[in-house]
Amino acid sequence: MRIDGLFLENFRNYTRQELSFDPDCNVIFGDNAQGKTNLLEAVQYLSCGGSDRAKSDRELIGFSAESAILSGNVYSREREFVLRAELYRAKRRKLWVNKVPAKTAAELSGVLQTVFFCPEDLLLIRDGAAARRRFLDNALCQLRPRYASALASYRRAYAHKTRILRDCDQQPGLLQMLPEFNERLVQCGAVLIHYRAQFVEKLAATAAANHADCSGGKEHLSVSYKTVSSVEDPLVEPAILARQLRSHMESHKCAELGSRLCLSGPHKDDLVVEIDGRDAKTYCSQGQTRTAALSLKLAEREIYKNASGEAPVLLLDDVLSELDPRRQEFVLNRIAGGQVFITCCEDDRLPVLLGGKVFHVANGRAE
Ligand code: ATP
Ligand code: MG
Repeated sequence: MRIDGLFLENFRNYTRQELSFDPDCNVIFGDNAQGKTNLLEAVQYLSCGGSDRAKSDRELIGFSAESAILSGNVYSREREFVLRAELYRAKRRKLWVNKVPAKTAAELSGVLQTVFFCPEDLLLIRDGAAARRRFLDNALCQLRPRYASALASYRRAYAHKTRILRDCDQQPGLLQMLPEFNERLVQCGAVLIHYRAQFVEKLAATAAANHADCSGGKEHLSVSYKTVSSVEDPLVEPAILARQLRSHMESHKCAELGSRLCLSGPHKDDLVVEIDGRDAKTYCSQGQTRTAALSLKLAEREIYKNASGEAPVLLLDDVLSELDPRRQEFVLNRIAGGQVFITCCEDDRLPVLLGGKVFHVANGRAE
């Protein structure tokens, strides 16, 4: 899978830009604030209809423009595709796959998949559980359409239940609807746990191998899945998980009504990341944090590749800073085997080291 060409109009600081890419390696270099990350973000948007760092599409539209266009020529599943997105300030965006309007962003993911590593991914290790859940959700939504729809239903039911718990004092009648939403949370939650557990099992093995290589065998990374306490084995089938989730929810009924919060369910799941048996969040150095986060992301790419036979496009933003030469070399060796975009600063040696196509970015123009 690869993206051969990209066209941008009024996307972030790119007024108008057409680019054609190398099938293997694309190095994007330039000073700070010139548009390197924006370029990776555009590729990511075409793969999933969203961006990790933008809260709304409006942020992506050039400051003085009313709309933005992104279009990419993609080669995937032995076919050519054209993906297109138009973003507007005043109305909903439009997406197309080969000139046919796409109803959901999942249709883009069906063609192009990306794994994006950016400096904020260090939060994957350092931050609270929400960052790790987001990682799981993003990965699984691209990988499994059924997961994406279960997640969307779960979120809708969660929002309803939250409103019921919040407003039931003023409107006691609302409580009648609680069992229905609870059951929906149990059913969708079981699907989420089922997929998350399988994904984490693969992730743990692959990420540990990556991390061991990168640290010259000196460090051991372990990743495990933590979910609702009544679930004994998250790898069992969803029907059994649903039973265990239901019993957990029932035993927390009073607490939920008392606190007015949804206390039971996989919306509180976490990934436990440890290095040499110690909690990574608390004890990792900067370089270790980066290595661990990167090991997880590279593992994500390998899992996609094993699932679909095609490596997703790897987008590496400012990945090498803070790494010692050994760890840098490991990263550069590991990223082969699929199309890669990698950004670096003006004076880095990276363009020379990597070969492929080199783009210099200055003030919203890439040449
Ligand atoms: P660094 O090396 O610091 O990471 P970068 O080259 O990755 O820099 P980008 O994050 O791509 O820089 O951002 C480049 C510029 O794009 C920033 O100066 C920012 O102000 C500008 N920018 C962001 N959003 C918009 C927008 N919607 N319209 C116009 N310009 C924007
Ligand atoms: Mg940047």
